[in-house]
Amino acid sequence: MQPVTEHVDRLVCSACGATFAPEPLHTVCTHCGRPLLVSYRLEALCDRFRPEVLAGRVRSLWRYAEVLPVPFDAVRSLGEGWTPLLPQPRLGRQLGLPNLYVKDESLNPGGSFKARGLAMAVAAAALRGVRQVGLASAGNAAGALALYAARMGLSALVFMPEETPEPAVWECRLAGAQVYQVPGTIAEAGAAFEAYRREHPEVFSVATLREPYRVEGKKTMGYELFEQLGGRLPDVILYPTGGGTGLIGMWKAFDEMEALGWIGPERPRMVAVQAAGCAPIVRAFQEGHETAEFWENARTLAAGLRVPKALGDFLILRALRESNGTAVAVEDDEILEAMARWAQAEGMLAAPEGAATLAALLRLREAGWVQPEETVVLFNTASAHKYPAVVHRVLSRVEATEIR
Ligand SMILES: *Cc1c(COP(=O)(O)O)cnc(C)c1O
Repeated sequence: MQPVTEHVDRLVCSACGATFAPEPLHTVCTHCGRPLLVSYRLEALCDRFRPEVLAGRVRSLWRYAEVLPVPFDAVRSLGEGWTPLLPQPRLGRQLGLPNLYVKDESLNPGGSFKARGLAMAVAAAALRGVRQVGLASAGNAAGALALYAARMGLSALVFMPEETPEPAVWECRLAGAQVYQVPGTIAEAGAAFEAYRREHPEVFSVATLREPYRVEGKKTMGYELFEQLGGRLPDVILYPTGGGTGLIGMWKAFDEMEALGWIGPERPRMVAVQAAGCAPIVRAFQEGHETAEFWENARTLAAGLRVPKALGDFLILRALRESNGTAVAVEDDEILEAMARWAQAEGMLAAPEGAATLAALLRLREAGWVQPEETVVLFNTASAHKYPAVVHRVLSRVEATEIR
């Protein structure tokens, strides 16, 4: 089995531009320590990889085979990707936005969009002979890793904060992963994982942007938006940002689509949404910095947004600026309200991270940053089912209001 698809050209450092052959196994740039990204021979693909060829293909992210680094026949898919893009007519009416959509990522295997990246990263590692994979995670990445490792016959090891929502821990244990829970945030869990790896170098890290393939799985969200909107991109995308893999991935997908001749130079305005209790990207964006500083005492009920420092911060900030986008922090109370509102208005069971995008849209709409005729996409990145403790808080608020 060939470990790479024929169109993969090289791996390119996202910061210093150093290039590497895709073989053997790569982590980050050996010169500067920053993330590597996969580059494809897109000129050679222009003539035959057209949007029209996609009709009738497999209903998962593997429909974009020409621009993926792993051959589909080498993967044991769980059906990841090709999630619905749903119109939000009632919410849209309330907000004066008739062209409002949600990309509902809660339908992915394991109930979160982490499935996309980990399907790709685990397959790429397995093809290069890796037997043990691991990462530190706020929860959903660990769950997805455990599922794909089980499916592809690898052993998995995960480090998570003690406060991780229980369903993510259950997923890992059910699928037979080795689970370590660590006091603090994902930063402490990450340090514990790295300490473990110094003793056990045979464990390959698939942590966010520590290898080049998770982004390739996440970028497919950008291709799907184009296809599902009938061959165009939205005007505005709101993305709940922790490590930023999805935002970086979609931005990369748009560049590829331009090189393929699918779109011109226009881009959606990208909005990074964070929680007020952990908003390093928002702060850096507002202060005009190119990288973000570590956020001390990170606190939010949106576990996936409790990321005090992102390795790809400079890539996120660059995409926000180049797209004329912005960054918004919302309070936990706004997130709780948005969860109830979304479920009641549209039947959407949003994770707190997903609900944060709705809360941010309310603010942007009030500020006049989004115009009525614009096409706006919210990302619901996981199911509310994965956050029972948060849902209890939503319900006690809803019920208290009803009694009053
Ligand atoms: C991980 C996660 C995020 C953040 O995603 P990044 O691509 O790492 O920024 C958002 N929502 C949920 C539910 C997550 O699990």
